[in-house]
Amino acid sequence: MHKYCFACGMPMSKREDFAQGDEHSNFCLHCVDEEGAVRACEEIFEGGVQFFMSELDGDRQLAEKTTRKNMRMLPYWQNHECGLLSGEVVSDEEFAEILKKLS
Ligand SMILES: [Zn+2]
Repeated sequence: MHKYCFACGMPMSKREDFAQGDEHSNFCLHCVDEEGAVRACEEIFEGGVQFFMSELDGDRQLAEKTTRKNMRMLPYWQNHECGLLSGEVVSDEEFAEILKKLS
């Protein structure tokens, strides 16, 4: 069964994908620091932008809009404030197209 990180949406399939190698964690290794605390919104957002930029031929504006769309849907951000998530997002159609490219 596939789990997805609650903060960035990364699929987690093997033990090393999980925060601190704990398969019961709801977070991936990228979203949690050495102390086990979830990283700041700015860091997670920037990680998402870098990821989507590499998939979207370096288009930073599009990567930011895609990251916002993605993070806004994730469980962790439903009850955690993140100022960076207010702003323009890609449409559902654009988002579906981008996800198709990833797989
Ligand atoms: Zn994550």
